[in-house]
Amino acid sequence: MLVVKAPGTRYMKQWCDHLSHLVPGLEIRPGTDEVPPEKVRYALTWEPPSGWLASLPNLEMVVSIGAGVDHITRDPQWPRHLPLVRMGGAEIGQRMGEYVAWACLHLLRLGRTYAVQQAEARWNYVNPEFTAEDLTVGIMGMGTLGAQVVPMLGGLGYSVVGWSRSRKNVAGAESFAGPEEFDAFIRRSNVLVCLLPSTPETTGIINAELLAKLPEGAAVVNAGRGPHLVVPDLVAALDSGHLSGAVLDVFEPEPLAADSPLWAHPKVTVTPHVASVARVKDRARFVADVITEFEAGRPVPNLYDPARGY
Ligand code: NDP
Repeated sequence: MLVVKAPGTRYMKQWCDHLSHLVPGLEIRPGTDEVPPEKVRYALTWEPPSGWLASLPNLEMVVSIGAGVDHITRDPQWPRHLPLVRMGGAEIGQRMGEYVAWACLHLLRLGRTYAVQQAEARWNYVNPEFTAEDLTVGIMGMGTLGAQVVPMLGGLGYSVVGWSRSRKNVAGAESFAGPEEFDAFIRRSNVLVCLLPSTPETTGIINAELLAKLPEGAAVVNAGRGPHLVVPDLVAALDSGHLSGAVLDVFEPEPLAADSPLWAHPKVTVTPHVASVARVKDRARFVADVITEFEAGRPVPNLYDPARGY
């Protein structure tokens, strides 16, 4: 049996309907049903209640409903001996590429400035100083999503550099790797895009020290996770004029607090963690493939590595 446990009864039903068609031999139940814990072999989940996964004695695999797994691993009781799979599928990369391309163009073409002027019915002629061809986008986190974003930015005329733990060979992006190449990467990034996973090493990585190393007039896009960003440091860098803008999709905590200075900041655009939420039908296809591979005894894709923390 596979149990889908996530916030939203209708959402869980949608998952169950798709999976029932795609994996007909497996009983699929929503987390709202009372099911004998010993019958559950697979859990597909988002923000599971603390202790729920540990209460399933015959659980064989956990699949995260999103690409990040921090919402599962922050439960001290999560069963770390079991395979934990991060969500994949073609649509996640496409949507993240669209979001990052939109965010870069929004910053380049002064979208926030015009939105503020429009709200005040103010006709004020300001023209962007640069074109995409003048700018380099630096992608922090050149994993599955980071690599998929590169050709979309290249198509718009941006130069792209990427930073990751290990060296990458991604067409159209110069690779920087490890802490020793971090500064060289940061100093090249006119737009810094964060697509890192949330780990102890990456918490607070976008801080005053990093921001000071960005070129004058740079901008920040955070679509990774909220804990990556030190909000007061970002606001200070925007207010000092060192940074020109920010597009933020993820926050700590979520939802973003009503009294956060980010909401009304004239240089900040806020989106509610929507950068890449693929349709259920696409993600269900990925989950069905994972279960097929697992049951055939073959390696499953997107496995979480506890040693790396992502
Ligand atoms: P991956 O695990 O495929 O990629 C992570 C990348 O980060 C890898 O390139 C990895 O390096 C790099 N990395 C990790 N830790 C470090 C470190 N300490 N120093 C340098 N580089 C590091 O993840 P995905 O691309 O699938 O997803 C990335 C993140 O995007 C997710 O974890 C999630 O937080 C976020 N996300 C946000 C969404 C949204 O809607 N806002 C939607 C989906 C995902 P290496 O390759 O060398 O291992």
